[in-house]
Amino acid sequence: MWQDLLNRLRLRSTNSGVYAGRWLDRPSGGEIESLNPATGEIIAKVHTGSLADFEVAASNSHAAFASWRKLPAPQRGEIVRLIGEQLRKQKDDLGLLVTLEAGKIRSEGLGEVQEMIDMCDFAVGLSRQLYGLTIASERPDHRLMEQWHPLGAVGVITAFNFPVAVWAWNAALALVCGDPVLWKPSHLTPLTAIAVQNIVNDVLESRGLAGVLNLIVGDRDVGQSIAADVRFPLISATGSTAMGKSVAVKVAERLGRSLLELGGNNGCIVTESADLDLAVRAILFAAVGTAGQRCTTLRRLIVHESRAEELIARLKKAYGNVKVGLPWEEGTVLGPLISEDAVKQFTDAIATIKQQGGEVLCGGSRIDRPGCYVQPTIVQAKPAMEIVKHETFAPILYVFTYQDLNAAIELHNNVPQGLSSAIFTERMREAEQFLSPAGSDCGIANVNLGPSGAEIGGAFGGEKETGGGREAGSDAWKAYMRRQTCTVNYGTTLPLAQGVKFDVE
Ligand code: NAD
Repeated sequence: MWQDLLNRLRLRSTNSGVYAGRWLDRPSGGEIESLNPATGEIIAKVHTGSLADFEVAASNSHAAFASWRKLPAPQRGEIVRLIGEQLRKQKDDLGLLVTLEAGKIRSEGLGEVQEMIDMCDFAVGLSRQLYGLTIASERPDHRLMEQWHPLGAVGVITAFNFPVAVWAWNAALALVCGDPVLWKPSHLTPLTAIAVQNIVNDVLESRGLAGVLNLIVGDRDVGQSIAADVRFPLISATGSTAMGKSVAVKVAERLGRSLLELGGNNGCIVTESADLDLAVRAILFAAVGTAGQRCTTLRRLIVHESRAEELIARLKKAYGNVKVGLPWEEGTVLGPLISEDAVKQFTDAIATIKQQGGEVLCGGSRIDRPGCYVQPTIVQAKPAMEIVKHETFAPILYVFTYQDLNAAIELHNNVPQGLSSAIFTERMREAEQFLSPAGSDCGIANVNLGPSGAEIGGAFGGEKETGGGREAGSDAWKAYMRRQTCTVNYGTTLPLAQGVKFDVE
């Protein structure tokens, strides 16, 4: 059924999963199957990379740095512009492949590719704006300045739920900053990665730049090898907090740099004054969209007690109208979870919720149809329930009530994660309190919109167990470069800083 799509994206029934300046003929890490989570069918197979294949890809990425860093940044930007153009041309097909392999509904699959295009556009502009500072020197006839240099090859480890956009957040910036990339995608979404590599190869190979962007589909051992390897001065890792803790240690052991984008457990406060029309729509998208499989998915709703009954009633009604279906079908709002494992995590979580005193208000079960479908679920929760502190990667929304905004903010912040947050209020003071230093402790804080669905223009990332990394817009590019502080003495004396004297006759 999907053969034409696979052909257009140059995917075969069995594919090489390793690109190191060229596709390796038969990587030796074993064969995996890419499954369609909506049907359970095999889409295609992939030969994954072994540690020996990793060595080829790593040395190739490292070698590419020598010449790539010398190309002027605006010329690197031109390459990224061309990549963006190719993505524009193939947006429809690549978006559909995201839908097929990751189970995202059609508009979200397309949205992911649009995010890649947006990142390319952003990076092209940035390629002429990698500014340093000039700083007033305390010494006469001295110039003090900062400049930014390419860092080296970047290891990019990505999660299944944004199978292509997160690569683009990293790769577009890394490229203009002068850094080659070795990408290790999730083993659950290898085909989207191979399709992206095919698309970028059209640009890179025709310009003699093969090897600036490389790919290795592999398991955790490959991820650990990238993390441990000094040829990658920066490791950007997106995934669960457990993965981040393990990668962070490996990178720290060799004093490398890590950029971590890990799990979220995002909250939203709905105040007494909130516009519930806005809130209901935002909550629905944030809690049910992507079947609850976004790092920014809304998981905890903290509602003023005077509005709880009405809000819950409206949400239950809206949840009842969610159209479940095949993700590529028009009108579908809720597609599948990524895998049988994910369904099990959902059903285990529901059992734990009940044990811990939570009340399932709607949903709570697997949907009886082929594929990995579960019901969007609302739970009346209690703050003492241990499970609400954990991220279950599924559409489960915990509801709490509050009386006092200070207490609501405290409850909101009382989880190990710190990615995204939101408040719905018509009162300026409440909004400002939420955004103040004593307000939300997250990397992202929104007023009158949900916690999910960020634009690329801002720096994206979160605090605490979310890992502290920032990617995409604003000045996130600085993570991909090394800062050099330079002082030039254009005088004829040698004054020392801090007035130190060191005169020797
Ligand atoms: P995961 O942690 O299972 O896997 C992510 C990636 O890490 C995969 O490529 C995997 O092969 C690799 N990996 C796993 N363990 C590893 C290890 N010990 N060493 C090296 N590599 C390892 O995550 P997932 O299930 O693919 O994705 C869902 C998770 O990702 C959720 O927790 C979600 O919140 C998080 N996420 C965070 C962001 C963000 O920006 N903060 C974005 C997307 C997803």
